[in-house]
Amino acid sequence: MDLKFDDKGLITAIAQDEITGDVRMVAWMNAEALKVTLETGRATFFSRSRGRLWTKGETSGHFLRVRAVHADCDGDTLLLQVNAEGPSCHTGRPTCFFRSLDAEGRATDAPLPPANFLSFLEQEIEQRRSSTGTKSYTKALLDGGASKIGEKVLEEAGEFARAIAGETNERVASEAADVLYHLLVGLRLRGVSLQEVLSTLHRRSGVSGLVEKASRSVSTD
Ligand SMILES: [Zn+2]
Repeated sequence: MDLKFDDKGLITAIAQDEITGDVRMVAWMNAEALKVTLETGRATFFSRSRGRLWTKGETSGHFLRVRAVHADCDGDTLLLQVNAEGPSCHTGRPTCFFRSLDAEGRATDAPLPPANFLSFLEQEIEQRRSSTGTKSYTKALLDGGASKIGEKVLEEAGEFARAIAGETNERVASEAADVLYHLLVGLRLRGVSLQEVLSTLHRRSGVSGLVEKASRSVSTD
C-alpha cells in the first residue's frame, strides 16, 4: 500500500519508546525526511515553521534511534519505534505529552501515565512507600529493608522454581507474578528504576536498528 502524504506533502509520525511503550513525540515527515530516517536510522522530520528537514537531536544530542517504522491502516500516519537518547521534548521532559485535559478540556501539567502495567505498578509501590496511615503489605516490606525483601525474593524464586518443574501453568504465572512484584519492591528500596533494568536487558538483547540492519545486510552478502 502507498503512503498518503497530505496536500502539503506531509505525513504524521508518532515516536514510541521501544522500551517503555511511551509515546515520546509527534511530528511531520515529508518523503525526504522519511528517506533520511530509513537510511540513517535517526528520526528526521520536516519542520513546518523552519521549512526544512531536522534530525531530532541535531542540536540537543537527544537522538531517536529508529528500530522500525510502521504505517497505519490507511497509510496516512507513521509509527516509529525508537530508542531515545535522552529526553525527547524541548522542555527537557522525556515526552511531549506532559499535559492532561480535565472535563472542560483545560490542559494542566500531569506526567504521562506509564504505557505498560509493570511501570504503573512501580509507581504504585513508590506511592505506598510515602503513604502513612493504612496498613500496606508493600509499605511493611519497604520498612523491613533489604533483609526482609531479600528473604521474600528468595522464597518466591524457590516457589517459582518448583512451579516450573511440575505445577500447572496457572501456578507458574502466579509465582512469576510474586517474583516480579517483590523484585519491583526491591528495586524501589534501592531507587533503581524499572527503566534502568529494561535498558540493561535491551542492551544485552542486541536488538538492532535500521542502520545496523542495513549495514549487516551489506556486509554479509
Ligand atoms: Zn515537546
